[in-house]
Amino acid sequence: MNPVNLLDFDLKGLTAYFEQIGEKPFRAKQVLRWLHHFGAGDVGQMTDLAKGLRASLAEQAEIRPPVLLSEQEAGDGTRKFLLEVGPGNQVETVFIPETDRGTLCVSSQVGCALECRFCSTGRQGFNRNLSVAEILGQLWWANKALGRDPKGERIISNVVMMGMGEPLLNYDNVVTALSVMLDDHAYGLSRRRVTVSTSGIIPAMDRLRADMPVALAVSLHASNDRLRDELVPINRKYPLTDLMAACRRYVVDAPRDFVTFEYIMLEGVNDQPQHARELLEVVREVPCKFNLIPFNPFPHSGYRRSSPETVRRFANILQERGLIATTRKVRGDDIDAACGQLAGQVQDKTRRLARRSAAVGPMVTGVPIEERPA
Ligand code: SAH
Ligand code: SF4
Repeated sequence: MNPVNLLDFDLKGLTAYFEQIGEKPFRAKQVLRWLHHFGAGDVGQMTDLAKGLRASLAEQAEIRPPVLLSEQEAGDGTRKFLLEVGPGNQVETVFIPETDRGTLCVSSQVGCALECRFCSTGRQGFNRNLSVAEILGQLWWANKALGRDPKGERIISNVVMMGMGEPLLNYDNVVTALSVMLDDHAYGLSRRRVTVSTSGIIPAMDRLRADMPVALAVSLHASNDRLRDELVPINRKYPLTDLMAACRRYVVDAPRDFVTFEYIMLEGVNDQPQHARELLEVVREVPCKFNLIPFNPFPHSGYRRSSPETVRRFANILQERGLIATTRKVRGDDIDAACGQLAGQVQDKTRRLARRSAAVGPMVTGVPIEERPA
């Protein structure tokens, strides 16, 4: 029988496991603490467990995080970790230091099955969901590498599920991993400091609201369905009116009383004043803040970043109506660690690249919206 991976469990799962092997359920808290609070990589380190239990765990279980392949540091202190998750598949995790916090950007899938036009991960195709151990393993490794500050606090104070993949399409594993992030026996992060970012998978947003309401970011990127259908194709299934209704429902149970809308600024595509005005109507009834993201380029993307002046003008229109609109700083782009640049390595099962090169016609290349065919 394959050994179980102890990093695959949250407290509930570990408790059930201990019951199943005839051990006292309260041992689960102790083991979770060893794994995630102290970062134990070996059952032998768990010195306050009875010798017998350590021996049986050593036989039946293992602690198997993904393999850490490399670590890079950018000029601004951003750090990128490359992790191997099985042959030919690698995912990336990014740590972003700021004055008042340290944020880890965690991946949820190997690649992504949704083909957002401006996203490097989306271009790579999709292999599979990450396991709980592979999601938590990113935090496990990064905590080891970064350690604690002089006051003994962990350097990682926030987690955003904004790395590779669509977290809400790997729902069960992501929710189990979130429960470990929030657990006081493990990472003890508050719900407000853990953010799930989604392209708008409405049924899963409703489930998350009930199961594990953490902070929510929604990748909006467009001010009408026609444009969003093109940039974020999942919009064809979950269009804007329904998405806005789901956001309103989410806010009722959310740890923050707003949803963050992420809006990527693509020159000449979605960054004009009329888009900003249209957006104000779309989000009219949703308590929200905007995070404007300057597009981060990657080879053959076909898009350009909006100028700072265009971004400022766009933000002003939102702000004049009382909305909070911040512009995300570009971090870590000298090591390709900025938003949307994470690539890792994906054994694509969707044959996306092959399909694309066979397709006729160019990719979307920033044709202003009013010039597009209806
Ligand atoms: N799949 C989820 C989370 C991962 S993407 C989602 O789409 O929300 C995290 C964020 O990076 C999203 O807002 C995404 O739209 C943005 N992003 C993707 N490609 C980008 C790029 N090239 N430049 C800047 N941001 C990008
Ligand atoms: Fe997937 Fe998010 Fe990239 Fe879209 S933006 S392809 S949902 S990772």
